[in-house]
Amino acid sequence: MTKNNDKTSEKELIVKAIKDGTVIDRIPSSALFKVIAILDLENCENQITFGMNLESKKLGRKAIVKVADRFFTIDEVNRIALIAPDAKLSVIRNYNVADKCTVRVPDTVENILRCINPRCVTNHEHIATKFKKVTDSPLVMQCRYCEKHIDQEHFEIQ
Ligand SMILES: [Zn+2]
Repeated sequence: MTKNNDKTSEKELIVKAIKDGTVIDRIPSSALFKVIAILDLENCENQITFGMNLESKKLGRKAIVKVADRFFTIDEVNRIALIAPDAKLSVIRNYNVADKCTVRVPDTVENILRCINPRCVTNHEHIATKFKKVTDSPLVMQCRYCEKHIDQEHFEIQ
């Protein structure tokens, strides 16, 4: 198979299944179910298709999610950047890619990460966790309550 054919089949894979909606590609396979949880797709009634353990040159194994007739706000999708930093979004309208964007970790995130400091108040009381971004690369987040710094390798999703 030539390189061009590969590109065509990849494009078909991304676009074909839905007429209008959103495709989220380049999700690490291990993060797929967390992405579904963060975007609250379990409670979404739209048609959702996903694939995981698809081959990816960049990620090794990747997952892809397609949600029909649903368009996310940038704030909604940026929440998944914590666990899927390479994720790419394609907005599909009438079977065509109308818009594309990549995700970016927001400056503050609430209610997604768990603080890894066992003494942190968020691990003892029922309060929402809050983290502030310290640096983008490497990605480091800081707990607003105990000031603990957490790097990407140690992220635990609530
Ligand atoms: Zn903390």
